Amino acid sequence: MPDAILRIALPSPLRRLFDYRAPPGVPRSALQPGARLRVSFGRRELIGILIEVTDHSEVPADKLKPALQLLDAQSPLPPALFKLCLWTAQYYQHSLGDTLSWALPVLLRQGEPAEVRQERFWHLSEGAQLDDPRLARAPRQREALKTIAQHPHGVAHQLLGQLQLNKESLGLLREKGLVRLEIRRHAASARHRNWLAEAELPLNPEQRAAAEAVRTGFGRFNAFLLAGVTGSGKTEVYLQLIRATLEAGKQALVLIPEINLGPQTLARFERRFNARIALLHSGVNDRERLDAWLAARDGEADIIIGTRSALFTPMQRPGLIIIDEEHDASYKQQEGLRYHARDLAVVRAHQENIPILLGSATPSLESLHNAHGGRYALLHLHQRAGGAQQPRFLRLDVKSRPLDSGISGPMQQAIGQTLAAGQQVLVFLNRRGFAPTLLCHDCGWLSECPRCDARMTVHQRSAELRCHHCGHLERQPSNCPTCNNVDLRPVGAGTERAEERLGILFPQVSVLRVDRDSTSRKEAMTKLFNTVQRGEPCILVGTQMLAKGHHFPRVTLVAILDADGGLFSADFRASERMAQLIVQVAGRAGRAEEPGKVIIQSHLADHPLLVQLTEQGYFAFAEQALSERRGAGLPPFCHLALLRAEAHRPGQAEGFLDAACSEAELLVNELKLSGIELLGPVPAPMERRAGRYRAQLLVQANARAPLHRLLSSWMPALEQMPGARAVRWSLDVDPIDLF
Ligand code: ADP
Ligand code: ZN
Ligand code: ZN
Repeated sequence: MPDAILRIALPSPLRRLFDYRAPPGVPRSALQPGARLRVSFGRRELIGILIEVTDHSEVPADKLKPALQLLDAQSPLPPALFKLCLWTAQYYQHSLGDTLSWALPVLLRQGEPAEVRQERFWHLSEGAQLDDPRLARAPRQREALKTIAQHPHGVAHQLLGQLQLNKESLGLLREKGLVRLEIRRHAASARHRNWLAEAELPLNPEQRAAAEAVRTGFGRFNAFLLAGVTGSGKTEVYLQLIRATLEAGKQALVLIPEINLGPQTLARFERRFNARIALLHSGVNDRERLDAWLAARDGEADIIIGTRSALFTPMQRPGLIIIDEEHDASYKQQEGLRYHARDLAVVRAHQENIPILLGSATPSLESLHNAHGGRYALLHLHQRAGGAQQPRFLRLDVKSRPLDSGISGPMQQAIGQTLAAGQQVLVFLNRRGFAPTLLCHDCGWLSECPRCDARMTVHQRSAELRCHHCGHLERQPSNCPTCNNVDLRPVGAGTERAEERLGILFPQVSVLRVDRDSTSRKEAMTKLFNTVQRGEPCILVGTQMLAKGHHFPRVTLVAILDADGGLFSADFRASERMAQLIVQVAGRAGRAEEPGKVIIQSHLADHPLLVQLTEQGYFAFAEQALSERRGAGLPPFCHLALLRAEAHRPGQAEGFLDAACSEAELLVNELKLSGIELLGPVPAPMERRAGRYRAQLLVQANARAPLHRLLSSWMPALEQMPGARAVRWSLDVDPIDLF
C-alpha cells in the first residue's frame, strides 16, 4: 500500500491545498478529515486542516515532507460548518485554509486542544433570604443577591460584568453564606421546563403577526425581513421567537453589530431567559471565546450572541438565526476574508434548513430588493411599542448662514429652548476631533498627512494632529511649518469643537461627548448613561456611536449638524448610509411620553432624497433610491467585485491591474461570458494611504453566474502573474465600500 498523502488547507493566501505525508507513527486510520495538523511550511510552522487523505500527489515523493503532529482525533469542526466554510471560500474567492482560520476561534488556530475548560458559576445558597437583615445597609449586595436569585441555574462568572454584578459584592455575599461558587463544566443540568426568567410583554397586533409568521416558518428555511421603526419592539419579537426556539429544543444564534453590544442589550437577554448564553464578541478573551464556541457546538449553550464572526459558531441543534440591524456595515469584514455576515447567515440558514430573521428600522436596499423579489417575507412594525410618538423632522437650510463651530443660529436657539424646557438634547456630528484640518491664514498651508492624500485632524485637547486614515500622529504646531506665521486656524468642526462651543453657550448644563476618543474606556460610557438616566437637562454630542442601540428617553431634540457628506459623496452608497444614520439617530429621541423633534442642518436642504426622507420616511426614500440604482445599473441591480492593489512606487499598482484587466478580457472571451464590464483600473479615490499608492479595478456583471465563472479562473491566473508578488492585492466580492 502506498504512503498516505494528506491534502491540507493552510492559513496562506494561496488558493490551493498542500500535500504532506502522515506524521511518523500515525496510522492512516487515525487521520480524520477536519483534524488539525502541525506542519512545517517554509521556515515557519503552521497549523492546517486535513481536507482529504489520498494515495497520489503531484509533488515528487522525495519533496514530500511529513506533517509534524496530529492535533485532533476527530474534526473539531462539524460537517455543517465545514460546508459553510467551503461555500464561503468559493464565493469570496478566498483560500480555503485562510477561510477556515478566520472561522475558527484563535486558540484552535493556535493548536489548543478543542476541549472545554471548567467554568465557575455563582448560585444562591440553600435557605438564603433576599431580605436578609445583614443587607439592610448594603444596597449593592442586596441587588446582586436579587440578580443571582433570578438565575436558578447559576450565573457564569464570565457574565458578571454583563449583569452589572461586581466581584466584591459577591465576595461579601459569599462570606455571609448567602451565595456559593460552583465549579463545573459549562454544561448545565437537565432540560428546563420554564425558559423564562421574567414575564414576556404582551405583543401588540403587529408584533404578534410578525412573530406568528416566523413561527409558522420554523423547521425549514425561510427568510424574513422585519422592518420595524426604532422602538417598535423588534427586540421583544426576537426574544419571544427565541423562547419558542428553546421550547422546540433548539439553539438560537443572534448577531448584533459591535457597537450595539452594550451591557443594555445583553442584560436584556440575560434577564429574560433561564438559558445558557454563549457570548462571542471583541470584549471576550480567547479562552472564553473558545469555551463559548465549544459549548455552542456541543449543544451546551442555548443562545449564542455575538458580532460578525460569531456567524461561524457551530451549533448542534440550530433552530433560528437572527440578524439585528441587518443594514449595519460592520457585518462586512473589510480585511482578509471580506465576507458579509448577513449574506452568509442567509446561506447558512439555507444549508441548515432553518429560518432566519433580519431586522432593522432602516433595512438595506439589498434586503428590501430581496423582499420585493419574494426571496424574503417582509414584516412591518409601523408603530412604536409603548405608544411613544415618532419624531418630527425639520430641514434647516444653512446655505448663507454663518456656522459657529458648526452650529447655526437657529439651531442654537432650538437647543436653548429644549434645555429651558428641562429636556435633553442630542447633537450628532459624524466627525470626531476638533476640526478636520488646520490652515495657515497667511500662506495657505494645510495640515496634510505625510503618508496619505488626506488632511490631519486637529485634536485640540491633546494638542495633536492625527490622520484618521493611517494613524499618523504629530504635535500640533504653534507656527506654520512653511512660513512660520502664528495665525494657524482650525477649519470646520468635529465633535470636540462642538462640545467646547456648546459648553460655552450653555454653561448651566453638562455637555457629554461620545465618540471613539471619549469612550475608549468603559467607565466613561457608564458615567454618561447614569447622567442621562438622572434626567436633568444636558447635551450629548457624538458620532455614530450615539446612533445605535441606546435608549435616551429624555432626549426630545436631535440636532444633526451635517447631512451634506451623504449627499455630495462619490460613493453611490453614501446617501443610503446617511439616511440610515439620520433615522437611527432620530430613533433615540422621544421614546417615552415626550415626542421628539429632529432638526437637520444642510446646505442642500431641498435635495430630493433628503426631502423624501424627512417628509415621507425611510421606506419612501428607499424606494426612490432603489429606482435610482436601477436606472444607473448599480447594486442590487448588478453584481460587483473590486480588485484592489497597492504598492510603494507610484504607478506600480496600476501596472499590475492593467495586466490583470487584460487577463480578465482574455478570459471573458475564452469562456464566452456576457454581461461583464471591466471598469478601470483607476487610482483609488484616496490614492496614497499610509505611504502606499493604491489603485482599483471594478468588475460589474448583470448576473452572478458569469461573474463567478470569471473570478474562479481569474484569481489563480493572477497568482501566477509575474507582477503579483511586488504589489499587495485583494479581491472584494460584493464590496460595500468602493474606496
Ligand atoms: P426595537 O428593538 O424595535 O428598537 P424594543 O424591542 O427595544 O424596540 O422596544 C422598545 C421599547 O418598547 C422597550 O422599552 C420595550 O420594552 C417596549 N416594548 C416592546 N414591545 C412592547 C409591547 N408589546 N408592549 C409594551 N412595551 C413594549
Ligand atoms: Zn504659513
Ligand atoms: Zn495618514
